[in-house]
Amino acid sequence: MPSTPPVPFRTEQRWTNWGGNQSCTPAFTVRPRTEQEVLDAVRFAIREGLPVRAMGAGHSFTPIVATDGVLIETDALTGITGTDSARRRVRMRGGTPISEIGDPLWDNGLSLSNQGDIDKQSISGAIATATHGSGIEYTSFSERLRWVRLVTGHGEIVEIGEEDLHRLRAAQVAVGTLGIMTEVELAVSPRYHLREEISYPHWDQLREQIGAELAANRHFSFLWCPQPDSAALYELPTPDGLDMTGRAYTKKYVEAELAEPGDLVTEEGRRADRAYRIYAGGFMIPFHELEYYVPAERGLEAIEAMQDLMRTRFPNERYPLETRWVKGDQAYLSPFHGRDTTVLSVSGAPETDYWPYLRAVDELLGEFGARCHWGKIHFLDRDRVARLYPEFESFRAVRRELDPDGVFLNATTRRLFG
Ligand SMILES: Cc1cc2nc3c(=O)[nH]c(=O)nc-3n(C[C@H](O)[C@H](O)[C@H](O)COP(=O)(O)OP(=O)(O)OC[C@H]3O[C@@H](n4cnc5c(N)ncnc54)[C@H](O)[C@@H]3O)c2cc1C
Repeated sequence: MPSTPPVPFRTEQRWTNWGGNQSCTPAFTVRPRTEQEVLDAVRFAIREGLPVRAMGAGHSFTPIVATDGVLIETDALTGITGTDSARRRVRMRGGTPISEIGDPLWDNGLSLSNQGDIDKQSISGAIATATHGSGIEYTSFSERLRWVRLVTGHGEIVEIGEEDLHRLRAAQVAVGTLGIMTEVELAVSPRYHLREEISYPHWDQLREQIGAELAANRHFSFLWCPQPDSAALYELPTPDGLDMTGRAYTKKYVEAELAEPGDLVTEEGRRADRAYRIYAGGFMIPFHELEYYVPAERGLEAIEAMQDLMRTRFPNERYPLETRWVKGDQAYLSPFHGRDTTVLSVSGAPETDYWPYLRAVDELLGEFGARCHWGKIHFLDRDRVARLYPEFESFRAVRRELDPDGVFLNATTRRLFG
């Protein structure tokens, strides 16, 4: 009789990511409800010689979830497990969606220090790929990780905290290759409100203001539009009759002292609200995104090189060029390791051949020493990763220690990190 997992499971169920560009059919899809069930599922896989991958919300565009072995769904492993307002810390189960963190944190006088464009991801998925927002003084979710409980490739539970910086820096960005994160602790901020301002400046005007805007705002980012219909592809509202060609949909958030509910504003473009309600965005129409990271001091040069590429060689590629900033950190596989960073993202339309365009972007930004978002389309191979991430071998040493037999590797992660 074939062996089956000792936790709720389904067989041969097809999985597809949010963008629709990655899929797989695992032998077993399991949905553990407790850490013990995660442990049981991993031990089952080890006994059967099956590889294991975890999935969060499936919002990555790269093949970093896919497996033909055991796929662990984490959406039953949710909830805050503790807050410490004095130390500004929060603990939660590994599958907790970011959208479920804001309210309980607020009730304890706390907020996430920064957030990205959406809040649909699981906290572990966000940590695994160094998901970030924008703000030159603010780091990614990964850098905020201070402690984690992991089910390793030995079929054991380990805790990694600040007393073991070597292993913590590996765990902060691990693309799911050290094991399954069942519980995490993040450093957070005292709770804060944000006031939003949306504007649509032409590039000639915006380029002169970048330094000042970065200094003046907690969050500053923009989406530069090469075509009149670019903004609509990301569902960005723009004023009637304004031709967005060469303009940027520009977001600024500053911290504000607001009294609730009287001071809250929900009007699009002028919102003033609790921080976590301002960050959470839409993005309902799928796209396929590439995201590269250049040193902040070369950011302006890289933006203008990208604009030139889009205008001259790829005039039919219409998605905006999103530009953000992230503070440097020390995590071994972090794209922000050791450097403040300018983030450049572009997308291709599903069902079109965007590959020549994205390859040209890779070639261009490669000249800037660009690193990549592990969850978004990129062209890095092992040699480039080894060259661009100075602590790559430190990461691999921890990986080998926690998962010597490669239980948590699939073809993509084995090629890059195995
Ligand atoms: C519409 C949209 C908007 C986005 N906006 C941003 C943004 O603003 N900023 C940004 O940086 N990125 C952004 N992203 C990218 C996204 O944040 C990352 O791809 C993130 O990893 C997705 O989280 P997830 O929960 O969907 O994880 P998945 O995509 O499901 O998984 C990502 C990785 O995490 C691993 N993993 C998941 N759970 C666990 C666990 N419990 N233990 C160990 N490993 C685990 C998986 O194995 C996989 O390797 C966006 C993506 C989309 C589609």
